[in-house]
Amino acid sequence: MKVLVLNSGSSSIKYQLFDMPSQKLLFKGMIEQIGEKASKIKNHEQGIILILKKIQNIQAVGHRVVQGGERFQKPCLINKQVIKRIGSYCKIAPLHNPANLSGILACLKFMKGIPQVAVFDTAFHQTIPDFAYLYGLPYKFYNNLGIRKYGFHGTSHEYVTKEAAKILNKPLNKVSLITCHLGNGCSITAVENGKSVDTSMGFTPLEGLLMGTRCGDLDPAIVTYLQRRMNFSPERIDQLLNKESGLLGISGISNDMRRIRKAAKNGNSRARLAIKIFIYRIRKYIGAYLTILGKIDALVFTAGIGENQSQIRKNICFQLFDNLKKKPKVLVITTNEELMIAKQTFSLLSQMKTRLTER
Ligand code: ADP
Repeated sequence: MKVLVLNSGSSSIKYQLFDMPSQKLLFKGMIEQIGEKASKIKNHEQGIILILKKIQNIQAVGHRVVQGGERFQKPCLINKQVIKRIGSYCKIAPLHNPANLSGILACLKFMKGIPQVAVFDTAFHQTIPDFAYLYGLPYKFYNNLGIRKYGFHGTSHEYVTKEAAKILNKPLNKVSLITCHLGNGCSITAVENGKSVDTSMGFTPLEGLLMGTRCGDLDPAIVTYLQRRMNFSPERIDQLLNKESGLLGISGISNDMRRIRKAAKNGNSRARLAIKIFIYRIRKYIGAYLTILGKIDALVFTAGIGENQSQIRKNICFQLFDNLKKKPKVLVITTNEELMIAKQTFSLLSQMKTRLTER
């Protein structure tokens, strides 16, 4: 089965075509600058048309959807109800779900009869218990507005969890890990017996670690202070916290760890500080997650920084497990969110086919 995997962002569509179940990558590409002034590609529909000119004989599509709320704990076949529900989550994920939905709607329009599956970034974290996902706000804000920790990067954390279980030669439901997804976006997850029990990202992907351009953990009073003191609008604050902060904001150089490390080597003190904060916060979370998990089989690193920056990994791990009797393994696992989406799409459609033939 040829499965097209789509990651529709606000101005781009990343796509990969897999042959399943062989998992062979047949084609990959990216449409950029969607909707930008100088661009010929005005919207996601036009982007999808371009992709369909390059790729034929698609038998299924797997869509990355960032926010699946409490409703979606697993991938699901897209129908009218699912579209409505994904649309309703645009309110809590205005920076992500609208673009994901545009990609889905464009595919439904131009690929009639081809099954479309939604795979949610939040799904893996739906096993987090209430005492870990609730914020200290009046309970009605959870009940009425859905304000709680959802967690993101779930497809990546789930993928590396499954790979780690294979490497450790343990059944998935017996494996406990701390998984660090360190890319442009960064998050860290506590995995107990194969399930996510806490993660650093929250209601949005802004919470937690210091990231490329996102600030991570912040005293919420800073937001109201900026509103009053600087007269910042909600949009300006979103821009500040999501696009101008993190490694970029501290270093004043770049959001890219490679460039920051180069500047640090050349003696730039703000670059050094940015790296220190980045590492300090990861170590702090690892400490917290070690406490809630008791013991772990492995600490897992993945994504751009996690996979490629051995010095950063070394600094994170420095004397980290000295007090533990049984030292966990440290694993570096290349994440593959697209393959995970292709696998889940194929698996869901195969299960449905089996169910239909059994009836
Ligand atoms: P995204 O989260 O946008 O998918 P990545 O997972 O590629 O991005 O992570 C981007 C970060 O990873 C950057 O800070 C970059 O410096 C680092 N990175 C990516 N590839 C490499 C590499 N080959 N060597 C060193 N660092 C890398």
